[in-house]
Amino acid sequence: MASRTPLMAGNWKMNLDHLQATQLVQKLDWTLKDAEHDYGAVEVAILPPFTDLRTVQTLVEGDKLSLVYGAQDLSPKDEGAYTGDISGAFLAKLGCTYVTIGHSERREGHGETDELLNEKIQAAYRHGLTPILCCGEALEIRKEGRQVDHVLGQIEADLAGIPVEQVRTIVIAYEPIWAIGTGEVATPEDAQEVCGAIRGKLAELYDEATAAGIRILYGGSVKSSNVSEIMGKPDVDGALVGGASLKADEFAKICGFETA
Ligand code: PEP
Repeated sequence: MASRTPLMAGNWKMNLDHLQATQLVQKLDWTLKDAEHDYGAVEVAILPPFTDLRTVQTLVEGDKLSLVYGAQDLSPKDEGAYTGDISGAFLAKLGCTYVTIGHSERREGHGETDELLNEKIQAAYRHGLTPILCCGEALEIRKEGRQVDHVLGQIEADLAGIPVEQVRTIVIAYEPIWAIGTGEVATPEDAQEVCGAIRGKLAELYDEATAAGIRILYGGSVKSSNVSEIMGKPDVDGALVGGASLKADEFAKICGFETA
């Protein structure tokens, strides 16, 4: 089996201004240092609002921190008359490693379609950014037992035409919408069912070796108290963490899930 370095990514959503970001990054760094966190064994990423990125870059580069960071969205376009949008080129200049694409809060709240998300994935790769592609089903779909078909449909549409040499680096985050910010966590078996099916789909769309190398995260009310069990599943390679990533102690515990 391919060895996949687990990734713990903190999605701050629209929380914390750049001054608060400084405090959280510093506290997270100290806490992880105190816990002797091995970044080679578990990668740690934060995904702050756009307005915090310059501050985070200065801290990470100035203090040589081992955290990596990224943005929560990007424009499908590279530059021009697109008021309010942010180009992948700008994110790359700010030292971003990752960019979240297709979070349910954007699919639902901003009407983002699979076609648009496909363009955003292409834009991310044009600028050397690694997409964290989010997918997941609403409660009604799960109640009807259609979660696997629904998510695989999203993956197939979002990745249409993305070549194998690019997709090798992608990160996929399975986030059942009913579990985001609700305190409702999918069982480890629920997470494995869909994450395993995603890996199967990647093997079908590309090949087994490519599928075996891609990291698939689970997201939805992950906390230090439930992370170890979820990480125990063979196709879960990390977590996309919302609320719990805003507290340095709690997020550091999640990053050290093996000892949590
Ligand atoms: C998220 O925003 O991606 C998320 C999973 O949020 P929470 O952990 O708060 O459910």
